[in-house]
Amino acid sequence: MAAAYALAQAGWDRVTIVERGPELGGLAGTFETDGHFYPLAYHHILQRDRGLLFFLDRIGALPDVRWRKISMLFQLKGRLFDLADPVDFLRFPMSLADKLRFVRLMLRCFGKSDWADWNERSAAELVDTWGGPEVRRAIFDPLMRLKFNRPCEEVSGAWLGARLHFREGSAPLGYIPGGNWTKVLCDGVTRLLDDASVQVKLGTSARHLGIQDDRVTRVDLDDGESLEADLVISTVPTEVYQQLLTAARPDLDHVRYTAVVSAILATKQRVTPTFYWMNLASLDCTASGMFMLNALNPTIGAPGDTCLNIMTHVPTRHDTFFHQSDDQILAGYRADFHRVFGFELKPFWTQVNRLGMYAPVFHRGYENPPLRDAVLTNVYCAGNYRTFPSIASTGTALASGVDAGAAILADHGGTSDLPAAIDGYRLASMPRG
Ligand SMILES: Cc1cc2nc3c(=O)[nH]c(=O)nc-3n(C[C@H](O)[C@H](O)[C@H](O)COP(=O)(O)OP(=O)(O)OC[C@H]3O[C@@H](n4cnc5c(N)ncnc54)[C@H](O)[C@@H]3O)c2cc1C
Repeated sequence: MAAAYALAQAGWDRVTIVERGPELGGLAGTFETDGHFYPLAYHHILQRDRGLLFFLDRIGALPDVRWRKISMLFQLKGRLFDLADPVDFLRFPMSLADKLRFVRLMLRCFGKSDWADWNERSAAELVDTWGGPEVRRAIFDPLMRLKFNRPCEEVSGAWLGARLHFREGSAPLGYIPGGNWTKVLCDGVTRLLDDASVQVKLGTSARHLGIQDDRVTRVDLDDGESLEADLVISTVPTEVYQQLLTAARPDLDHVRYTAVVSAILATKQRVTPTFYWMNLASLDCTASGMFMLNALNPTIGAPGDTCLNIMTHVPTRHDTFFHQSDDQILAGYRADFHRVFGFELKPFWTQVNRLGMYAPVFHRGYENPPLRDAVLTNVYCAGNYRTFPSIASTGTALASGVDAGAAILADHGGTSDLPAAIDGYRLASMPRG
């Protein structure tokens, strides 16, 4: 969407988006229950996500964004800890010296924006050097297990540092009252594309790319239509792109996607303590985390509902857990809930979403595939597999789309002011929720 917007803004008038889903948005999509809109899993706005803030501004939604300091809990050995709360922080099972080292690590990461010098080093090295091995064992080893099912040694230090720099757990997070912000965003950008006469084909997949010499000349769709193509921007996961090419592409083999199973549900029960984000760090639950969506956005869902997202990071979509029935998955999540809160969860609606290609594993030494395809001269690439070492977010995906659009313009004698505008974007104010 962002790539198409960049081209349309420069006056290109024969741009077509092909989207498999019923509407634009992909992982930032939405579903509806009883007239209310919900994200596919948890979704919050990060204060340093310039690409996202820029687009929210452009669609006129930024003044509506409200910011709230959230509570992030660690569930460990049957107890809950809020590391931002001084009392809980002192109670957390780690020595005082390691706690001070943990604070030092966080402060150093908050202050460092360029992580290129950590590309080849691991998350273990980062935490051990700036925090210490005990900080890693107590906090980061469980978190990396939850997210990637890998030890810190295999995860990129640049990615972890950049992620901590985004201050996801310690700075206020944004939302839009009165609804679900991903819907506002996707509807708004869809309007921008509509105004710019970008053609959108929904509910049809690209099935095959027709290639002549070193160029893609045709995109075959699964509804039987074939689109002639002068230029192609691939914004699908690299594994899908490889299938469309029907040719081996070893240069893309290092990009491997994790999957997510996400249950969104509503209950009339009151759940305490209030939290937004809970890491199930004891690693003995079916779920990786729980989110109380209304603790960030009190207006999500119907008044009085407690809206939860219980989700599991799954190593790959081929994992057996990913293919369990909804009932099996929910039985595991209900058991997790009972273990943590001590009473039975009684939702009055539930939706299970399976997201097969959620984000690439940003392992040590990960390299973004090039913006200009390494083999095909008229193919450009965008998407969250190109955002390393930055966090894989809605805004970094948007920014990568803008970069692809700007590269095409540059290769054809044009320019786009969008990348610089995003890069220089600063929030003027952060009204509290
Ligand atoms: C559980 C979860 C939590 C998240 N939390 C946050 C958060 O709190 N804040 C935040 O900013 N971001 C968050 N994100 C990240 C963010 O949503 C994604 O990184 C971003 O939306 C990815 O965008 P993308 O365009 O790279 O990929 P996608 O959204 O995956 O886009 C790819 C698109 O290609 C389409 N497609 C695939 N194959 C074909 C085909 N053959 N033909 C046509 N179309 C095809 C798909 O339907 C999809 O629309 C979260 C994501 C998840 C899954």
